Amino acid sequence: MPVPSTAFVDRDGVINHKAEDGYYVKSWSEFAFLPGAIDGLRILRRAGCRVVIVTNQRGVALGRMSAAAVDDIHDRMRAVLAPAGADVHAVYVCPHEKGTCGCRKPDVGLFLQARRDDPKIDFEASVVIGDALSDLEAGRRLGIPGVLIAGEREVETRLADARARRLPIAAVAASLREAALRLVGEER
Ligand SMILES: [Mg+2]
Ligand SMILES: [Zn+2]
Repeated sequence: MPVPSTAFVDRDGVINHKAEDGYYVKSWSEFAFLPGAIDGLRILRRAGCRVVIVTNQRGVALGRMSAAAVDDIHDRMRAVLAPAGADVHAVYVCPHEKGTCGCRKPDVGLFLQARRDDPKIDFEASVVIGDALSDLEAGRRLGIPGVLIAGEREVETRLADARARRLPIAAVAASLREAALRLVGEER
């Protein structure tokens, strides 16, 4: 696979530690970068890949946090990333309840919005990086190959699930750093 020109990157579980099931990262104080996340973004940027974050944040619809709080997290995240050479091109958020919109992954509204905002984005030269099969399913609907982020213990079951759902997986990686190295063609 050539170096992608755009990487659509999921947030929770890829860039930062995911909250427990049923909980949400509601403020900057609850946001913690995962090991290898900043490195991974820097590697992608250095290879000329634009990074677009696409994230479901249903906690907004549930009233656990405000849309402004989510924006604040992203402003602060970007303020850390930019000076580290790991700046992101754009961040797109689905704040909606399940089944009420066209943008909650695995739907593709966030990806289409990104391309409307920047017509240089070419899905054929893109990749999606996520820790959930819904991330890869969104990619599949647009013909974008996926990189699954999965720990060693879960990788076999996740891959079996992905195969059962006929999801295209270009690679599996334990961290965003490992995913980025694969994508730019440096194994490690
Ligand atoms: Mg995730
Ligand atoms: Zn939505």
